[in-house]
Amino acid sequence: MEEIKIFAPASVANVSCGFDVLGFCLDPVGDEMIIRKIETPGVKISKIVGQKLPFEIKKNVAGVAAEAMLAACPLKFGFEIEIHKKIKAGSGIGSSAASAAGAVFGINQLLGKPFSAHDLIQFAMEGEGLASGSPHADNVAPVLLGGFTLVRSMNPVDVIKLPCPSELKAIILHPKIELKTMHAREILKKNVSLKKAVTQWGNLAAFISALYTEDFDLMSRSLVDEIVEPMRSLLIPEFEKLKTAAVEAGALGFGISGSGPSVYALANGIQDTNAIADSLSSSINQVGIDFEIHISAINNQGIKVISCK
Ligand code: ADP
Repeated sequence: MEEIKIFAPASVANVSCGFDVLGFCLDPVGDEMIIRKIETPGVKISKIVGQKLPFEIKKNVAGVAAEAMLAACPLKFGFEIEIHKKIKAGSGIGSSAASAAGAVFGINQLLGKPFSAHDLIQFAMEGEGLASGSPHADNVAPVLLGGFTLVRSMNPVDVIKLPCPSELKAIILHPKIELKTMHAREILKKNVSLKKAVTQWGNLAAFISALYTEDFDLMSRSLVDEIVEPMRSLLIPEFEKLKTAAVEAGALGFGISGSGPSVYALANGIQDTNAIADSLSSSINQVGIDFEIHISAINNQGIKVISCK
């Protein structure tokens, strides 16, 4: 195989009670990437379509992730990468994760899969380190493994793929406002009270149990974030109004996607999904903010091969 074209999906990290550890993979929303073998060793980015992002390897998450992988398996040939960007960088749905995971997934395929999907997380995380200051796996893990994932530990990397009911759907609303990830980080308090921590880990454990038992009521009761959402929601216009609109239209839960500004809702079945999307659209229309809305299945496969030659 000399060349591969892949679909690198968007993802939702944090998921209310799962700050920094829980994530899930989206379906129709994502980038395409083409990766091909070249004679010169190393990595180069030959084309970026759809957005202005750096071509320099050390400044593009795809380059950093690919170099981390090639450092683990030095080769006499190299790879060039084309990125066809559909996910807007900084929207909160894992734009950098799609590129970092896409690069290592594509190269691994071209090499005949010497690494497992779990192994690739470590390399993709290095790319994420460039985008957010420190390597993290809560977006790249669901992109590489599919479905919902839990990052139990970063050092050593220990990621668990969780089951997901097929009826579960997601609605993503991206209010087109600028929200700097750095600011969303700075606003967080460094300490958490024991009372809040107990509530949060109770909710996270219950949510994971609900994924296993397909208990949608329990899922709904446990999609609560007492620690991060109270601070970060202040950066998202009309957050409470949007949450009420989603919940009244039948959402199981509603929260911030990644560090925002995108927000997500989860729903049981397509009927509720459409009603929630309508309700969110009319609420945000009333405040006159430009937005995009996506309805998505939970992508249980994760990153996909489109074609190869
Ligand atoms: P979000 O998760 O909110 O969609 P990210 O955290 O993924 O956004 O990070 C976007 C940042 O990463 C931007 O500063 C962008 O310039 C940088 N970046 C570098 N390479 C890429 C890439 N290939 N794709 C997307 N963002 C990239």
